[in-house]
Amino acid sequence: MMDVIICNAMPVYHEAPVSPTLLKDNKEKVMEALLKEPANIRYLIVPKGGWIWDKPEGLTIIETSHKSGFTYGNDSALKKVIEGEKPIPFCRNDELISHESRVVTVEELLHEERKSVYIGGKTEKKGFLDLDRNMTPGDILAASGVEGDFKAMYFGHPMGIFINESMLDQPMELTTDYIEILNETDCMLDFLLKTADRYGKEACGRCVFGHEGVFQIRMLLTDMTLKKGKISDLDLMLELCHEMKGQSLCEAGVSIANTVESALEHFKSEIEEHITRKSCKAGVCQKFLTFHILPDLCTGCNECSDVCEDDAILGKKKFIHVIDQDECSGCGDCIDSCEEKAIIRAGAVKPKCPKKPIPCKH
Ligand code: SF4
Ligand code: SF4
Ligand code: SF4
Repeated sequence: MMDVIICNAMPVYHEAPVSPTLLKDNKEKVMEALLKEPANIRYLIVPKGGWIWDKPEGLTIIETSHKSGFTYGNDSALKKVIEGEKPIPFCRNDELISHESRVVTVEELLHEERKSVYIGGKTEKKGFLDLDRNMTPGDILAASGVEGDFKAMYFGHPMGIFINESMLDQPMELTTDYIEILNETDCMLDFLLKTADRYGKEACGRCVFGHEGVFQIRMLLTDMTLKKGKISDLDLMLELCHEMKGQSLCEAGVSIANTVESALEHFKSEIEEHITRKSCKAGVCQKFLTFHILPDLCTGCNECSDVCEDDAILGKKKFIHVIDQDECSGCGDCIDSCEEKAIIRAGAVKPKCPKKPIPCKH
């Protein structure tokens, strides 16, 4: 008989509390199933607060904070939780994850055929969906109600992969609780940086490669969004990912390394454009945005000039105004000052504008 069985009902992602939701809807069933498991000691780890339990004999329920959702989703953090310590993920040789113990998910205890997943991002059907584990990405996209405007799907921890349009029919096994759908208004570099930031905040800092590796990757990604990136940084990131996959103490470090590698494999040209062409085609990275006055809409009222603290708006009354790109700091303050909606921000595609103010025909 195994010594210990642990049911981990902590969310992998804050945004996707799949396990706690399943548990809340099936409390009695889960406890019954856990009590039937042949083990000497049984644990159920649940998020703190909002739970009313009749504490059954033979089962220890541990309520814990899910501030570190990502690392809590890591089965191995459980040993520390059970011991009343800081919930750091496991060392790969952790004895509690050995043959004498077993960690199960709520889904496994309920013998769920389908996988509950939280779908986020650019879909109207944001929220929980029950999906077949062997669905193709294309089937998942259809189930999420997305038609047309699609660029990528991100499959979160522990998968850490991106799917692009050409990969929608490829078979795969769904193991994550979290999928995000991206369209042309999402910048892959920005998304990657936010994902790395989230990992950076939630990682336990226990191992050098998981902690320092992602710190370096975040610095390189940040430089790219600030027009300071170098093309050699892309290879450097791949080297860091390689080391992280080999040396991180837990699967959290591996899955963020997979995420970076996958983005570079499938969306390299978009990321590269930030470095080589100083352009963010999605129009997301602030440093790459430029501001322009549309000549057809400008009435020459001169209202915007007073707003610009950089004196970047050229023109006088009854003249079509022009933004001096060398002087504009990209603060965006002028946009709301124009009642004609003549001031716009632009990404890779810039409107045609006169170089100097010209008399207004309005
Ligand atoms: S990879 Fe290392 S730093 Fe990151 S969560 Fe795991 S043990 Fe902690
Ligand atoms: S851009 Fe707008 S606020 Fe500025 S002069 Fe033209 S119409 Fe007026
Ligand atoms: S974006 Fe800011 S700096 Fe540029 S023209 Fe508008 S107000 Fe001036």
